[in-house]
Amino acid sequence: MKLSVVVPCYNEESVLEQLFQALVEQLGAITSEYEVILVDDGSRDATLAMLREFSRRDGRFRYLALSRNFGKESAMLAGLSQARGDAVAIMDADLQHPPHLLAQMLPYLDGDYDQVVARRTRTGDAAVRTFASRQYYRLMNRLSDVPLEDGVGDFRVLSRTAVRALLALGEYNRFSKGLFSWIGFNTATVDYQNVAREAGESKWRLRDLVNYGIDGILSFNTKPLRFAIHLGIVVSLSALVYAVWVLVQAIVSGVSAPGYVTLICAVVGFGGLQMILLGVIGEYLGRIYAETKGRPHFLLKEASGPVVLPVTEVL
Ligand code: UDP
Ligand code: MG
Repeated sequence: MKLSVVVPCYNEESVLEQLFQALVEQLGAITSEYEVILVDDGSRDATLAMLREFSRRDGRFRYLALSRNFGKESAMLAGLSQARGDAVAIMDADLQHPPHLLAQMLPYLDGDYDQVVARRTRTGDAAVRTFASRQYYRLMNRLSDVPLEDGVGDFRVLSRTAVRALLALGEYNRFSKGLFSWIGFNTATVDYQNVAREAGESKWRLRDLVNYGIDGILSFNTKPLRFAIHLGIVVSLSALVYAVWVLVQAIVSGVSAPGYVTLICAVVGFGGLQMILLGVIGEYLGRIYAETKGRPHFLLKEASGPVVLPVTEVL
């Protein structure tokens, strides 16, 4: 098997037929030895029925069905764990990741590269959105230990070595942009024009983006904890300086006791600060909790054929 293509699908009934056609046509032009692994991430529409139909129509199309919606990260992981190709491509179902690009990406693996990523250029986007995302990545890169790049997503081709490395990372909180970057290996980049979603709608909302950002920071380092220590030192020192100043004032010009407002502001302000920092600690604690439970990343309820063992995730 030369190439496996993993596609996570969540409520994608409106694009799947087009995806199927595009893949058959374009992958056929690249190699005859390929498989497509479509992963149904607990869709509530006709997605799973369509995946069954595809695998009946064409033996190269396999599918896995997760027992519920586990999220794209888990769906990708499920697909990767079952892929048999020497090269494994990951792409979205909505054709925002043009399959014809694979023909350009694959040759790099024969060279010195173990990962080939496709980078989307933001030509079609509104200026505001481009600006916002640029700032977002600048901030993220300052806070996170692994470099993250704008426009570089999950559309990529991995060598068997890179896939093995990814599968070896068993962490429960999977922030794959960071994981891809963490495993290292030589990475080649191929640019492509941004394309709009073929049909259906994106599942990303602003809140997801904010949470994604927080994940990106918290999954890869403990800088926020370090920041809390620094902040604590600064605040304590200021308090000390202020105390000395008040004392000197009292000695020089006697005791007067205004400062009700200052007091309230300080109490409320520092109360809030402590809550935020407790939240940061709690966030790490929650992650440790999730990791210690050691739950599987996903559960399978159905597959088109035998699944590769050992997958602890299989029922
Ligand atoms: N997806 C998934 N599980 C989810 C959400 C999304 O498998 O819980 C899949 C979805 O079917 C698509 C890909 O992840 O193939 C990217 O999703 P989407 O197009 O909604 O994200 P966007 O392109 O807007 O970032
Ligand atoms: Mg999309």
